[in-house]
Amino acid sequence: MTLEENVPLGRLTTVGIGGPARHFARPQTVAQLEDALRWAAAEGLEVYTIGLGSNLLIADEGVDGLALRLEGELAASGVEGELLVAGGGATNAVCLHRTRAAGLGGFEFACAIPGTVGGGVQMNAGAYGGDWKQILVRALVVTADGSAWRTPEELGLEYRRSSLGPGDVVARAEFRLAPKPPEEIKETVADLQARRKAAQPTNKRTFGSVFKNPEHELSSGRMLEACGLRGHRIGGAQISPRHANFIENAGDARAVDAIALMAEARRRALEQFGVELEHEVRFFGDLELPPAGETL
Ligand SMILES: Cc1cc2nc3c(=O)[nH]c(=O)nc-3n(C[C@H](O)[C@H](O)[C@H](O)COP(=O)(O)OP(=O)(O)OC[C@H]3O[C@@H](n4cnc5c(N)ncnc54)[C@H](O)[C@@H]3O)c2cc1C
Repeated sequence: MTLEENVPLGRLTTVGIGGPARHFARPQTVAQLEDALRWAAAEGLEVYTIGLGSNLLIADEGVDGLALRLEGELAASGVEGELLVAGGGATNAVCLHRTRAAGLGGFEFACAIPGTVGGGVQMNAGAYGGDWKQILVRALVVTADGSAWRTPEELGLEYRRSSLGPGDVVARAEFRLAPKPPEEIKETVADLQARRKAAQPTNKRTFGSVFKNPEHELSSGRMLEACGLRGHRIGGAQISPRHANFIENAGDARAVDAIALMAEARRRALEQFGVELEHEVRFFGDLELPPAGETL
């Protein structure tokens, strides 16, 4: 496995924002992944695993560590009996294709989530009443100290979170599905995709939901809409005119623009609703939101 230097990360994200990684590797096997993680630990480097970069905001200066993207057998997927068996870097789209072809249902909700299996474990990704926690049997987690299979309980899967740390990489996962005719799967997916297209800016460069939904009668999106933030722009970043819990890269957006918008959104939500919104998008590099109520 070759180690690359100063690789721009923005192009590996759906929002297209972010500077370079000092070191970058594309492990293809568990052994290569273990080697990379041991090397980073020995060098005292932070590890940044990137899936499809669909829930990531990366600092404009990039990251001073080792960024990893899983490829080869770590991104392969297939069906074994009623199990979907996939590498951490396998995309949800390809996994869904395989399960449909095999006549296995239960993964349809993931058609709305443009990520990978490993990113889904890290975030306990979910949509339309389904999430990873409900179908995941176990995941192979690789660290600098070795590899071990973990159950959903051991992974601490909760609403859009897990207990996985930055150096814990999901190399493989198994999901329990159930027989369902491919035609029915196709119909369900078409229905969910149409609903998604009607409600969200699916054709724009975004990083998915900006904030988690708070414990409140209003979702984050509805709350920010009520704050008059639809279409609000700072630099090249804009709150989606379509759905206020999305930030679009409206042209040469920088991470600092997105952070400034998020700070403004949090200030207004606190002022108007008394709610401290918590960000769902993950930050890589030197990025931090000011305390709720403060702007940049
Ligand atoms: C248009 C759009 C719609 C979206 N809709 C939804 C939705 O309905 N529901 C939902 O839950 N999310 C949604 N998202 C967010 C995102 O797609 C999910 O969070 C997804 O699971 C992230 O996967 P990823 O591979 O892109 O991870 P990334 O964004 O690359 O990374 C996210 C986090 O996962 C970690 N990670 C990635 N791969 C691994 C791995 N192999 N092992 C360990 N950690 C890893 C990263 O280090 C980071 O902390 C949406 C995003 C977009 C752009």
